[in-house]
Amino acid sequence: MIDLVVNEIFHSIQGESSYAGRPCVFVRLSACNLRCAWCDTAYAFTGGTSMSLDSILSTISSYACDLVEVTGGEPLLQPGCYDLMTALCDGGSEVLLETGGSLAIGRVDPRVHRIVDVKCPGSGMADRNLWTNIPLLTPRDEVKFVIADHADFLWACEIEQRYGLSSRCPVHFSPVFGVLSPTDLAAWMLETGVRGRLQIQLQKYLWDPQRRGV
Ligand code: SF4
Repeated sequence: MIDLVVNEIFHSIQGESSYAGRPCVFVRLSACNLRCAWCDTAYAFTGGTSMSLDSILSTISSYACDLVEVTGGEPLLQPGCYDLMTALCDGGSEVLLETGGSLAIGRVDPRVHRIVDVKCPGSGMADRNLWTNIPLLTPRDEVKFVIADHADFLWACEIEQRYGLSSRCPVHFSPVFGVLSPTDLAAWMLETGVRGRLQIQLQKYLWDPQRRGV
């Protein structure tokens, strides 16, 4: 019997990545090994409810939604996460994994779209990036830089170039909500011609940004 510690399962509009705008079921697993300075889901660091794989799958299926994101916290901390993603794929769901980029992604079911953060210096976690993940990225995966300031932006541009990220997969530049203006980030992207996409966190504009479960 596989159990996972689940912080929340909810149905909302996907706010990030190339899938933004689509209805999506989110499974947020508890605990994280990182402590990003701007983290907006610190409530997932602790607590949660132990649920069996069957119970999680049953809850997800109650929403009749074909897109499912497994997120956290850091979902890959829980060994059962791999079985959950495989079971979701087997059941016909389109599956996204949102991971902080500090843990190896090589064991993830190849049918899953892996959305991998590259932590910028402003997060305080840049030394935790697992660079050996980069060669594993394929066109079905995505990379996300969360940008707190201009120094983060320049750093992200340098990393994008050094690893040729945009030739591997979609690359997103996302401003820290309430810290960096999306307009400023848009202007920097246009000035530099960096190969990437501006991403705003759609959920912060649709719903109360302090609200959980969106
Ligand atoms: S990896 Fe995600 S959940 Fe963990 S501290 Fe950073 S932003 Fe928060």
